[in-house]
Amino acid sequence: MRLKNLSERDQKHIWHPLTQHKLHPKMLGIVKAKGALLFDEKGKEYIDGISSWYTSVYGHCNNFILERVGRQMQQLDQVVFSGFTHEPAVQLSEELIQILPGNQAKLFFSDNGSTATEIGIKMALQYHFNKSGRRNVMLALENGFHGDTFGAMSVSGLSVYNGPFEDFFIDVERIPVPTRDNVADILLQLENRLKENNIAGFIYEPLVQGAAAMKMYDSRPLSRILDLLQSHGVLTIADEVMTGFGKTGTHFASDQIGTKPDIICLSKALTAGLLPMAITSCSQEVYDAFYSDEMAKGLFHAHTYSANPLACTAALAGLELLLSEEMQSNIQRVVKSHREFDKEIGQHPKVARTRQCGVIYALDIDTEMERYGNLRDRLFDHFMDNGVFLRPLGNTIYILAPYVITHEQLQKIYGTIRSSLDLV
Ligand SMILES: *Cc1c(COP(=O)(O)O)cnc(C)c1O
Repeated sequence: MRLKNLSERDQKHIWHPLTQHKLHPKMLGIVKAKGALLFDEKGKEYIDGISSWYTSVYGHCNNFILERVGRQMQQLDQVVFSGFTHEPAVQLSEELIQILPGNQAKLFFSDNGSTATEIGIKMALQYHFNKSGRRNVMLALENGFHGDTFGAMSVSGLSVYNGPFEDFFIDVERIPVPTRDNVADILLQLENRLKENNIAGFIYEPLVQGAAAMKMYDSRPLSRILDLLQSHGVLTIADEVMTGFGKTGTHFASDQIGTKPDIICLSKALTAGLLPMAITSCSQEVYDAFYSDEMAKGLFHAHTYSANPLACTAALAGLELLLSEEMQSNIQRVVKSHREFDKEIGQHPKVARTRQCGVIYALDIDTEMERYGNLRDRLFDHFMDNGVFLRPLGNTIYILAPYVITHEQLQKIYGTIRSSLDLV
């Protein structure tokens, strides 16, 4: 009997994320990953141009991380994090606080980006509840993305496929992404709106809106919005799930913004692509609103695998790599390389716009098209045929490759993007 391949076996029992199985029944079987490369079951290799959704920034199957986690695995695998603590979590808290914006004081652990933002939202709502100034509205940016659980979905502005759930969303109001041109108007409207005293928190992706196709915006107008909101007691929540850990050229995007957030959400590259984990950090002031003789003022939120020791160890190893001279020079090398590529491709007649923030590079093709339309699929197939894994969003092609990607691999990505423009 012929052994069926992964793709065929997959179709029997598996339901994939973000997938309409009737239209896209086939999944590609991946058997191995190393550095910036993925290998499929036929042995074909692909450059992971998006770091497996922005996680594996220090390279896949990184020996330094594997070795550290392997050792931890022999020592302590998992333990309840309510009533117990352990070395990897304590050490991670000590080291992460060192590099987070200076006002961050406490870390709350969970499992993924959506739970990180969900917890940030709950912190903001309960902060006001505990201070007996009940506020029930969240503020968010247009076209933001913060995850797929209910609170996270509610604040996300990219709700193309959220129809069945919208009736159950929490109360959210939106403002446009602030720019030099519109910031005065937004400030004016907000000042009026804030008189009602019912906005609990404001959640935003700092500098780069990932799911909105790597839309980038300036720090200064945002800083003015954050100042106004903070002066009215609105808790500001930076969703750095995508931007965290070096991607914008600094450790965190918030490092480039004058006003520091009250709460920060971290996941994705936090654990270097090895294990799922998330952290929601907050200022001492936020924490103090929960610190009380009354039991009910605590944050009664938990996940079974909170602060899993192996995930904390992966995060510690990742941090050590991030802070190393070698990784910092890798980041600078990728930043420079994209800049060079931009000089050339920005002139291409089929390229409408280009943008870059740190190692994140994006270009818009000069054509109108729907988010997951036919051209998008043809571009994707062209990239994969050429051994490059990129996921175009609408008419945007973007690169967010592992920092350890080689010069040759970068040139191959650029070359494949160049040739893909012939398909337009
Ligand atoms: C990916 C992402 C999330 C959701 O994270 P998951 O781990 O997929 O739940 C939230 N916010 C931002 C900015 C993200 O990029």
